[in-house]
Amino acid sequence: MELNDFRQFSEPELVHDLLRSIQAKLDRPLVFMEVCGTHTVSIFQSGLRSLLPDGLIHLSGPGCPVCVTHGKDIGTFLELAGKDEVIIATFGDMMRVPGPDGRTLRSARADGARIKVCYSPMEALKLARETPEATVVFLGVGFETTAPTVAATVKQARMSGVGNFCVYSCHKLIPPALEQLVASQDCKVQSFVLPGHVSTVIGTRPYQFLARDFGLPAVVTGFEPLDILQALYIILEQRRSGRSEVVNQYSRGVDPQGNLKALAMLDEVFEVQDADWRGLGRIPASGLGVASDFQDFDARVRFDVRPVEVPEPPGCRCGQVLQGLIQPDQCPLFGTSCTPTAPVGPCMVSTEGSCAAFFKYQ
Ligand code: SF4
Repeated sequence: MELNDFRQFSEPELVHDLLRSIQAKLDRPLVFMEVCGTHTVSIFQSGLRSLLPDGLIHLSGPGCPVCVTHGKDIGTFLELAGKDEVIIATFGDMMRVPGPDGRTLRSARADGARIKVCYSPMEALKLARETPEATVVFLGVGFETTAPTVAATVKQARMSGVGNFCVYSCHKLIPPALEQLVASQDCKVQSFVLPGHVSTVIGTRPYQFLARDFGLPAVVTGFEPLDILQALYIILEQRRSGRSEVVNQYSRGVDPQGNLKALAMLDEVFEVQDADWRGLGRIPASGLGVASDFQDFDARVRFDVRPVEVPEPPGCRCGQVLQGLIQPDQCPLFGTSCTPTAPVGPCMVSTEGSCAAFFKYQ
């Protein structure tokens, strides 16, 4: 494919220049990881991955919210969906994630469960107003980016007296997951392209440990291929000069302090808890549970939810993919028994999953 064919590359000359500069600075191999589903898609869809010089190795980390949602939680979603009085409201990409015995929310809906795909938590609140005879349980899946809108919806539900709405929160925090990942002896990552969306909420400070404690260059960056190339250039420049810093390339969207209003909202409605991540296990202080002040809106309290143990699908290596220990096509199921139309693991379900992106574009 010709470089000029990439529509995302609005300035081909600049791209050529950046690629040449990156090549010139790459004096030895470098492994970089991005931790954002939108970056994953951008890197694959634009063709950027195939343009990177040999020796610049791309890994996708635990940045796809569907992929990191633990099998236990999928099991609980299905259990809640089986209750007559419940309507599950969820983002669409959770519908096909396999749970116990390969069951999914989609198959549960086909069996009669009341499950509604929503595009926002406010839509789920509207559904609750329209169906007073049922309890609407919104599945709160996502990172720091999604959680503020869920927090705002919980506050709205309280203000407007909607008592038949609650949230099953599986929201997760990116920095503690990165800390666990880089602290592992198996970690291959030498630098990070950090997520733009998450950083608009949390700013750049929560990532400082990467440079300070682990000596890893890291760049918060936007989603255009040019943004990503510039981030890679900054990383290589740091390495050449022996520096490790967290740099904000995405200053047009990210304030170093983050979004103070959104952070205050998170602080009010949620409390930081330990959380189970698929592939990474239980990570201390890496999740957001509904705060006790809002427990009327907490599905875990309302339904006395007990975790449902769900084994990983046999042969699935999503856990290793999410940690950057293997590339998607190193899973023996990749492209054979696991494809986007018949996914075995969650990384093949969402368009932002690394296996799905690898399958579609690589
Ligand atoms: Fe999991 Fe399928 Fe990816 Fe293998 S190819 S790691 S089974 S999603």
